[in-house]
Amino acid sequence: MKADIVIIGGGISGVSIAYNLAKQGMKNIVVFDDNYMTGGATGRCGAGVRQQWGTKMNCLMAKKSIEFFEQAQEELNYHRDIEFKQKGYLIVAVTQEEEQKFKENITLQNALGIPSRFLTQDEALDIVPHLNKDAFLSATYCPTDGHLNPFLMTDAYYHAAKKLGVTFHYYEKVIDIVVENQQIKEVITDKRRVKTHKVVNAAGGYAKEVGELAGVDIPVYSENHQILVTEPIEPMQDPMVISFAHNIYCQQVPHGAFIMGRSPNNPQHNHDMSSSWQFLEEMAKTATTLLPALADLRVIRQWGGSYNCSPDRQPIISESNLPGFYLACGFSGHGFMFAPMTGLLLSEIILNKPTTIDIKDLHVNRFENMEKTEYETSVV
Ligand SMILES: Cc1cc2nc3c(=O)[nH]c(=O)nc-3n(C[C@H](O)[C@H](O)[C@H](O)COP(=O)(O)OP(=O)(O)OC[C@H]3O[C@@H](n4cnc5c(N)ncnc54)[C@H](O)[C@@H]3O)c2cc1C
Repeated sequence: MKADIVIIGGGISGVSIAYNLAKQGMKNIVVFDDNYMTGGATGRCGAGVRQQWGTKMNCLMAKKSIEFFEQAQEELNYHRDIEFKQKGYLIVAVTQEEEQKFKENITLQNALGIPSRFLTQDEALDIVPHLNKDAFLSATYCPTDGHLNPFLMTDAYYHAAKKLGVTFHYYEKVIDIVVENQQIKEVITDKRRVKTHKVVNAAGGYAKEVGELAGVDIPVYSENHQILVTEPIEPMQDPMVISFAHNIYCQQVPHGAFIMGRSPNNPQHNHDMSSSWQFLEEMAKTATTLLPALADLRVIRQWGGSYNCSPDRQPIISESNLPGFYLACGFSGHGFMFAPMTGLLLSEIILNKPTTIDIKDLHVNRFENMEKTEYETSVV
């Protein structure tokens, strides 16, 4: 079998890259994924999309991706509602230092055209009345942030890419990449061999291992993050509520359930995707501190997934030092919402076109000089 390009990973990044390449005329695109579609981080995520970031690149990735989501249904000609609901994100400030940093973030965001704004405590309580006023000082808010269904969004890209001729093989693992004299020759899966000179690494939590198959060292690691969903109730909370200091994100999704998650207390670098009673206990404490009205909600299910993290919590979207080996990884907790731009930008790089935005700051080589790298602090 021959392919013009092989994409390893058919999560949201892989399907978006495949769609964008095919849309621009590339033929013979083959995607391999060793799981079911959305079996990786994509199907385990919190379904949040926001533009309120602290670095210019993350703000731009999010803003332009949200512009895509606003018309994704039409562009991808998808037959179902992708459940994109722009009901905002409200990020609470807990300390004076946080408040100061958030004001600086708003200046950056507004300069890039993101309609975020500062809220006093009373203004925040007007939007989310059940916030515990003893647990925060003030907030920032962006009305065009929101929620998007990751299963439907991935499926929409998948169908659009298939219509353009992309071939998908789920449940098929890439086990080796043959490289001779700095040129990719072949991709070997557990079912076949594919002759190709171009490979995209969109392997999510396993991006580092897939890099190693090609002899490319990628400075990313995977970290277990857990999340839960409650029983559905009548609508009571429009925006996603986040606190970095309290360590929580919490939103009510369109069918009424609350989804909430937090970062681990002692993060380990591994591929653990389990979920524990300790998480449930910590999550319950955090949620009822900030949002006491949720105390009586019953939890339906909890699960874990991998954040694939880069050293500065901004994604890696670039070629690598191996010609023809391209990277889309290191998204931390924001790869779902960045996927439209991930696909567009990486396809432009692969097709040797000028990129829609300048993305030298997302190049894997940036970590050779960490002093010049901006670090994203607005993460849970
Ligand atoms: C608990 C949690 C909450 C999150 N919340 C949000 C959120 O609210 N908003 C947001 O934007 N992001 C969120 N994220 C992050 C987001 O889920 C990820 O950044 C994003 O889904 C990454 O997509 P991906 O396609 O790059 O990776 P994945 O979805 O992980 O897809 C990669 C695929 O590659 C496959 N693969 C790996 N190795 C191989 C191989 N050798 N051969 C073949 N296939 C292989 C994997 O099986 C997997 O299916 C969250 C993540 C977690 C874990």
